[in-house]
Parts: sequence; C-alpha cells; structure tokens
Amino acid sequence: MKILVTGKGGREHALITALSESPQKHELYAYPGSDAIASLATCVSAAGLPELIQWMKDNAVDLCVAGEEAWLVKDRGLANLCAEAGLPCWGPYKEAAQLEASKVFAKLFLQRHGIPTADFTVAKTAEEAKAALTEFPIVLKFDGLAAGKGVAVCPNREEAEAFIEDVLSKRVFGAGDLLIEKCLTGPEISIFVSVCDDQYQILMPARDYKRIRDNDEGPNTGGMGAVASRQLAPAELLARIEEEMVKPTVAGLQKDGLKYRGFLYFGIMLTPTGPQMLEYNCRFGDPEAEAVMPMVRGDFANYVFEAAKGSLKPELIEFAEGWSICLISASAGYPASSRSGDVISGLENVIDARVYHCGTRKNAEGQFETNGGRVLAVVAQGTTRQEARDKAYAESKKVTFDGLQRRSDIATLHFD
Ligand code: ATP
Repeated sequence: MKILVTGKGGREHALITALSESPQKHELYAYPGSDAIASLATCVSAAGLPELIQWMKDNAVDLCVAGEEAWLVKDRGLANLCAEAGLPCWGPYKEAAQLEASKVFAKLFLQRHGIPTADFTVAKTAEEAKAALTEFPIVLKFDGLAAGKGVAVCPNREEAEAFIEDVLSKRVFGAGDLLIEKCLTGPEISIFVSVCDDQYQILMPARDYKRIRDNDEGPNTGGMGAVASRQLAPAELLARIEEEMVKPTVAGLQKDGLKYRGFLYFGIMLTPTGPQMLEYNCRFGDPEAEAVMPMVRGDFANYVFEAAKGSLKPELIEFAEGWSICLISASAGYPASSRSGDVISGLENVIDARVYHCGTRKNAEGQFETNGGRVLAVVAQGTTRQEARDKAYAESKKVTFDGLQRRSDIATLHFD
C-alpha cells in the first residue's frame, strides 16, 4: 500500500515510524516531510493542496493520513479534496475540523449536545466583553488563530480589561470574537479517540506539559513533554468520560452532519465536580503522539486504512501496558524565538529510547542541526512511571546542542 502523511514534525515522524513498523511493508510518503523523515518515507513537494491531491492521484496513493492540522482547513480542506478524488483520508472534513479551528463553534457544539463545559458568553465588542466580566479569575479566548497567545486566564478586572482592549479594540490578532469563559480548576488530561462516522475507539490517555520551564512556569510552548499510560485514567473515570463526552460528541457529529474519520483529541479538565471539556483538536497532539505511538502494537497501517474507508476495526491494534514518557529538547531562545544551525551531537548514542525529530535538518556535512523551536523528542517506555522516566532522562541527556532547553519535571509534576 502507498501511504502519504501530511506534516513535517515529531508527531509525523512518530506516525510514520508506527506505519513503517506495521507487519506488511508499505511505501511511505510525507508532505512535506523532513530530512529525518526521509530515512523512512519519500518526501514530496507540491505548491499547495490541489497539486498534492493531483500528485497522490498520479502516483496511485492508497491512503492519506492527516498529521498537521493546518491542511484540514486550508483551501477546500484536505479530507474534502481527497474524497472528491476518491482517496481514503484519515482526517476530518473541513466543516468538522471547525471543532478545532473555531473555539466558538466548539463551545456551541458542546452546549448543543449537552457535553459538560465551562459556562461562556461570546462578545463582539469591548463594551459587551467588559459588561460580561462578573467574576474573577476569568478565562478569555480569542476566536481565531493567535499563535498560542489567544487564551488568557485573568486573575482580576484590570488584566481582563487589558486583554479585551488588545483583542477587541486594538485587534492585535485581527478580526474575531472573544469567548468569556468561567474559570475551572483541576488537573488536565488528554484523551485520544479514533472516530469513524458513528463508530469510535478510545485509544490512550496522555498528559502534556506546555510551559517552557519546570513547575509549569514561563510562557506556553508547543509542548515540552508528555506522558502516556492507561493508568493515567482509572476505568471509572474513563467510563464517565466515554458516557458524558465521547458518546455525545460522536452522536453530535452525526446529528449535525459533520463527517469525521480521524483522530479526535479531547482536552479535559478534571474539576472537583467532574470532567469538563476544554477543547477539541482534530488530530493527534504533538508531543502526545510521540509518547503514544511507541505503545501501539498490531497492524497500525491497516487499522488506519480500514477506518479511513469507513470501517473501524479496534481488533487490529493494541496498546502496551506500562508508561511512555516523551522529553522535548528545545532550541535556544524558544518560545520567544528559535535558533537554527546548532549542530546536534550524541544521537548515535541513544540505544534505549526512540528519537523523533521535531525541528532538525542535515547540514552540508550530513550532520543533523537544529531547525526550529522544538528540536527533538526522546521517548522511553517502562513498566513503571519511574522506570520510563529514568530511561527517558538518561537517554535524552546523551543528545546535546548549544542552548538546549529541557524540563526536568516531566512525568513528576502533577503526580507527586
Ligand atoms: P492548545 O495549545 O491546547 O491548543 P488553545 O490555545 O487551543 O490551547 P485552550 O486549550 O482552550 O486553548 O486553552 C489553553 C489552556 O488554558 C488550557 O490547556 C487550560 O490550561 C487553560 N484553560 C482553558 N480554558 C480554561 C477554563 N475554562 N478554566 C481554566 N483554565 C482554562
């Protein structure tokens, strides 16, 4: 089978690795891919989605797997265009991908289908928004693309009004409404689900660490580490999440006529009164994919192929017991900026962990060097969280480059 994965980061490196380890050998392609991914898949270049679809048709690709979210909502949508070309795609239609692309769309979906989520209002003007500030802390969310800076948890009126001014008066993120949301408290958990029309399978829970520094300090990043294990969500909690969130979401998609075949991420806060939905992502998370993918056993390629064609077959895959821990090494200056061109050494010394490349390239001498904010994901497994953690840190420390940033409390913070 010929399989093409869209994307170029650590998540796609992990997905392509899992596809390459399926029992049958498949021809793998990546768009655009990376120098590291090129060791497993042929990297394809195309000027945009229509050209990519044409390339897949010309080359008789059997399956397209959506990694990066951007393509799902670009142009007329990756899945929509694949469907027109008669090509199975694992990733939702553009209309359904609004669950991630628009926070207001997601909140209205949650409300319409009775799924627990924080109370909210939507404001179009600064006056409306200020009038809606009735309690503190309060959460404000810009409904549009804001490079991770569109959410503010405001402890008081002063900070809330300053954010409102930025978003609705100065329009620092451009046009868009503002969501005003009740502030919830509690640990967060990510649940990954395969959704195929009216069928679903809950995969594995994970937790990611977004802040750049230990103890969840400093600015948000794309994710500095992740931990995955079935033990993150006890059976009782998982059953509650399934009943209150997963089932009504799948039924809601059907009811609203939103075609969904792909991974769906449920970002959940475990509040004292029960789980509440924070957000959906219409694909696997990054770095959660790097932690979860090494736990997959069975025939992942056929699992995805069958599901993309409309038949979810949970029996094709299994998840290992134990714990998987992913540590991100980020480049100097990240997340405010990111430095490229620092030579990476020690990759060949990693023997007891997997290395997925998030942002690297090969230099003229054939050495890998940094090429982005998050550079590498080093992932190890263990029977216990401690064992996985010790292994991940020992292996990750073998790899170095100038200015490397790595958190030291992944899989410890929020546990002990
Ligand atoms: P992500 O990078 O996870 O995609 P995002 O920009 O799409 O983030 P959200 O996930 O909605 O935005 O919110 C980001 C973070 O803000 C959450 O992970 C959570 O820590 C915090 N947050 C969001 N909503 C609330 C809430 N109602 N109460 C408390 N904290 C919240």
